Amino acid sequence: MNSSAQDDREDSDSLKDSPAPYDVVVFDCDSTLADLEGIDWLAADLSIQELTDIESMTHAAMGGGLRLEEVYGARLELIAPCAGAMAGLGAEYIARLLPGARLLFDVLFFLSKEVHVVSGGLYPGVLALALDLGVPKENVHAVAISFDHGGSYSGFDTDSPLARKGGKIEVIAELAAGRRVVLIGDGLTDLEASPVCSRFIAFGGVVRRDAVFERAKVHTEERDLVSLIPLLLSASERRKLAATERFTDLF
Ligand SMILES: [Mg+2]
Repeated sequence: MNSSAQDDREDSDSLKDSPAPYDVVVFDCDSTLADLEGIDWLAADLSIQELTDIESMTHAAMGGGLRLEEVYGARLELIAPCAGAMAGLGAEYIARLLPGARLLFDVLFFLSKEVHVVSGGLYPGVLALALDLGVPKENVHAVAISFDHGGSYSGFDTDSPLARKGGKIEVIAELAAGRRVVLIGDGLTDLEASPVCSRFIAFGGVVRRDAVFERAKVHTEERDLVSLIPLLLSASERRKLAATERFTDLF
């Protein structure tokens, strides 16, 4: 297993890392639970010109000319996902779920962990995937969108912290509230949220993002999510699993 709780370098900006057990387990969605970036999948039908416009907006945002949240909205306006497209996205997330995800979630629920999905993606798609994994609806956090009577796109929740830079940390700080949180994600927005977590695991099973891996104290490039178990559970929790018939194959 490549998973490693690594690196005790003392960087001035190094993140803290406290060992398991954790009370709350938070997953990112895109490129963490599923091998998919939802917004790119929805954008697949755009014209070359529209894609070029999105790219120049993204560059403008990186250079400070536009705020990231303005790009988020503008990109969504161009894609204008209808209700049917969102149903399609939900099905696509489920079809592209990473191996081991169902077993890992079974384990977490068996151990009575509070499991959340926190995503900058669009709520209907993320919700479909989360419900499929057994996560309760109230533990799903993503950007809501609205449709008109005919099911056409009519806007997104511009107040959602998840539609802007630095928003994940707000949502996760509220979940933490004195509890021990472990967060698993691939992206910079996940890394940004790590200061309120007891542990952040940089996930590279779909895409390994160097900027995230360089800062994270714990990371994995394993694609099978069962490989997260040693990073998420304490020795006594693992012993409890090993003593349970339906999980003995894990050991
Ligand atoms: Mg992601």
